[in-house]
Amino acid sequence: MREPQIYHGGTMEPVALVRYSEIAVKGRHTRPRLEKMLASHIKEALERKGLEGLVERLQGRIIVRRPTDVAAASKAAARVFGVKSTSPAVAVKFSNLEDLASKASDYFAERIRGKRFRVTARRSGTHDFTSLDVERLVGSRLLASTNASVDLRDPEYIAYVEIRDHTAYFYDTIIKGPGGLPLGSEEPTLVLYSGGFDSTAAAWLVMRRGSPADLVYFDAGVKEALDNAVETARLMAREWVYGRRLKMYVVDFRDAMRVVASSVRPKYRVLVLRRLMLIEAQKLALNNGYEALVTGESIGQVATQTVRNMRLIGSSMELPVIRPVSGMDKDDVMRLVRDIGLYESVSRQVETCSLGVDPTPRGDPAIFGEELDKAVGKYRVTASIVEIGG
Ligand code: ATP
Ligand code: MG
Repeated sequence: MREPQIYHGGTMEPVALVRYSEIAVKGRHTRPRLEKMLASHIKEALERKGLEGLVERLQGRIIVRRPTDVAAASKAAARVFGVKSTSPAVAVKFSNLEDLASKASDYFAERIRGKRFRVTARRSGTHDFTSLDVERLVGSRLLASTNASVDLRDPEYIAYVEIRDHTAYFYDTIIKGPGGLPLGSEEPTLVLYSGGFDSTAAAWLVMRRGSPADLVYFDAGVKEALDNAVETARLMAREWVYGRRLKMYVVDFRDAMRVVASSVRPKYRVLVLRRLMLIEAQKLALNNGYEALVTGESIGQVATQTVRNMRLIGSSMELPVIRPVSGMDKDDVMRLVRDIGLYESVSRQVETCSLGVDPTPRGDPAIFGEELDKAVGKYRVTASIVEIGG
């Protein structure tokens, strides 16, 4: 383990600073539970990257002390649901404003050399000075000791000074996290997961909101598609799932597809098939404790996803059907999947649901009902479970 740096007789301890947001608005009883959850997920994230560090909770922040590598630890923690941002920082004890200003200017002097800078201070605890006092004093010390210039509007370098009681944290980098809530802080959901862009984004989005989601894949008998879906799910689990293990229900859907293809009129086949997926997913969900279904449907993206057809496919379900990407453009969805590191894997996915005919974009409720009756309950399904991991 690395020793803290010795600096001007005092210590500057390298730490990763972790900020979270929405946990703060939770009730008094929920909050400590969620903070503990988040801290344990951060610990797991570090371990998965082979990093060490003591994860401590500290009034509205989490601090990783003595990390093997403060930059790597900050990066790893910034990939945990519930984390708003992280910063590689140093923690410094100080006795008064004067002491603080001289330590801050010692720390930042080299870093701002020749740059247009500003000092941004934040403070919590009781002090006989304000954040503005800190900004002014540190700023003027830096101006006096370097050739840098102040630029409050458009600085090249921001010297952050964050004060909590008698400890200050100095840093210049803020790494954006995913935000959201710790995985497990919400009730479980079941995602209809095809391994395509939209349902991958949908799964990630509900997990980001804290729901410990599992996946259900409807298998049309195309091995390559199933393998790809499993592969992407494994990657997603490795990168994003902490505190639990992701699983995938694989439903053999060949018989249902055969029945639909042979008895439902062509323009309604895909619509009926989607409805059957929801029906089967709902049975699985009700039997296994999931409280909502999730799909990757996006309004108007394809003929099955017109508002009208979503009405037909999703009507009178017992469980809510959540559609996290319903308001997103395809470009947004693809960017999201790229940002979460799953683009390449998802790109390999192949289409499987070829019933030959495009559905009518404006299905008729009465006809849909008749066609649905020709298929419901007339096929056999079996489900198996694939352990994806976490
Ligand atoms: P995706 O990008 O998720 O594949 P898509 O834009 O291709 O979605 P559709 O093929 O119409 O859209 O599927 C709509 C939604 O239905 C998917 O997002 C997914 O939630 C669900 N779905 C489709 N096929 C399957 C499948 N084989 N297994 C599980 N869910 C599926
Ligand atoms: Mg698809």
